[in-house]
Amino acid sequence: MTVHSEAAATGGKPADLPRRDHFINGERVAPAEGAYFESVNPTHGTAFYEAARGSATDVDRAVTAAQQAFENPAWRDLSQTRRGRLLRRLGDLIGENAESLARTETLDNGKLLREMRAQLAALPEYFYYFAGLADKIHGEVIPGAARSLLNYTLREPVGVCGAITPWNSPLMLTTTKLAPALAAGNTMVVKPSEHTSASLLELAELLDGSGFWPGVVNVVTGFGAEAGSALVADRRVRKMSFTGSTATGAVIARACGERFVKATLELGGKSPNIVFPDADIASASMGIVAGIFAAAGQTCVAGSRVFVHRDVYDETVERVAERARTIRIGDPLEPGTELGPLAMASQLAKVEEYVAVGRKEGGQVVTGGTRADVGLSGYFYEPTVFVGTDNGMRVSREEIFGPVASIMPFETEEEVTRLANDTDYGLAAGVWTRDLGRAHRMASALEAGTVWVNTYRAMSPMSPRSGFKNSGMGVEHGTETIKEYTRLKSVWVNTSDEPQGDPFVLRSQ
Ligand code: NDP
Repeated sequence: MTVHSEAAATGGKPADLPRRDHFINGERVAPAEGAYFESVNPTHGTAFYEAARGSATDVDRAVTAAQQAFENPAWRDLSQTRRGRLLRRLGDLIGENAESLARTETLDNGKLLREMRAQLAALPEYFYYFAGLADKIHGEVIPGAARSLLNYTLREPVGVCGAITPWNSPLMLTTTKLAPALAAGNTMVVKPSEHTSASLLELAELLDGSGFWPGVVNVVTGFGAEAGSALVADRRVRKMSFTGSTATGAVIARACGERFVKATLELGGKSPNIVFPDADIASASMGIVAGIFAAAGQTCVAGSRVFVHRDVYDETVERVAERARTIRIGDPLEPGTELGPLAMASQLAKVEEYVAVGRKEGGQVVTGGTRADVGLSGYFYEPTVFVGTDNGMRVSREEIFGPVASIMPFETEEEVTRLANDTDYGLAAGVWTRDLGRAHRMASALEAGTVWVNTYRAMSPMSPRSGFKNSGMGVEHGTETIKEYTRLKSVWVNTSDEPQGDPFVLRSQ
């Protein structure tokens, strides 16, 4: 990624690239300081558009627009059912524009067009789900107080919400924040990853057609250390939601803690995928492949630590390695491709470094372990399988975020439970077994926000997602996430005509 300013952009390639501005108060807005940066297509390693480099001034404008929209009676007093109707309309428009949004994401992050099409096809369902919840958000009457005291709760929107998102599934991971925030009556400012600004800006163009007021949703593009941190620091932002690395999540949690702002954090993982000897080994092997090689391993839930019972170890390693060797690597726009490039040069360098570390630690590469030569100039890496690693090595402890699996043997259920939980993370886990009792025991014993049994990477807007330990805080998806975007108020009403009692005694009955 190259940064340059308006002044510097005189002639040459950068000036020819299409430009994408911020989306603030319903309009495209040029960056206050006139600077843009290039976004690179990872399949070819070439820039294909420029995005506005957001500054604190741009964030200030966006938060002001969001604050004004929040206070605007047109939005604030809109009935909850009508709020739901707007979300439904936005879902429809996303459905109608799914193909172009999916292509934009593939060009930006290199994920398979097939995969992005599937994500975009699912996205309207997320908006419909939260549209349905919009008019089911309410407080309750609390019984038990004295007859002359009526006590009830109000569940209110918190105000301006900020969202910061990563590059691996840009629209999906924005939707899981945007849809519930809007359903609950908030307004929002989103800062997408610097690597994938385009699809969210395209989605923002659909807001007007859905009937949302200007300022309800705003997008400021740019870098985390500039636009991102300005958003987190703005005192008018009353709630932050973030998906990204654990290191950045900690920075954001600290900043939110300083000013007592609620934060929902969906962070990294080092998820175990466990195969017991009674499993359907063919199916489990495909589950291992899906867990670590889908999206070139660039998913937070990547099943990167594979534990296989010693009785079926050799067979499973052979099946996984065989499938890995035949994975079709190439242009993610091609329908036959199974593995596209890594999203950026730095990600490729990181994967190479970890594979070198794994070798140095004593791991043996069964397949992969090198860049893939596919005749394209992008950031391709071969699906890689390590054996001879153990759970204490760096490749087993640190998130690689690439197509690299370590397959480790185990002997007992107790041992594998201990190994699986011996990690700083707790995002997801997979279990492959035909033994019903064992499946439920493992689901209960594993320290992870999501446990899949005899499947991997299943997801629905209805099912809560959360990270245990260093994998996050708070909940996305499902009814629970509405609580993250509302605040609870307790109201007490005296219904009696009696004079006030002893003013020095707490009134509880
Ligand atoms: P990063 O943490 O590097 O970045 C995430 C976002 O935070 C980007 O928009 C980034 O901006 C911004 N950011 C960076 N520094 C700051 C800062 N100081 N203040 C405010 N914002 C900041 O993660 P990646 O984009 O590299 O995404 C990969 C990570 O995301 C992996 O660890 C992965 O596990 C995790 N992830 C988690 C998921 C989950 O649901 N748990 C799902 C998907 C991914 P910039 O544009 O400059 O990078």
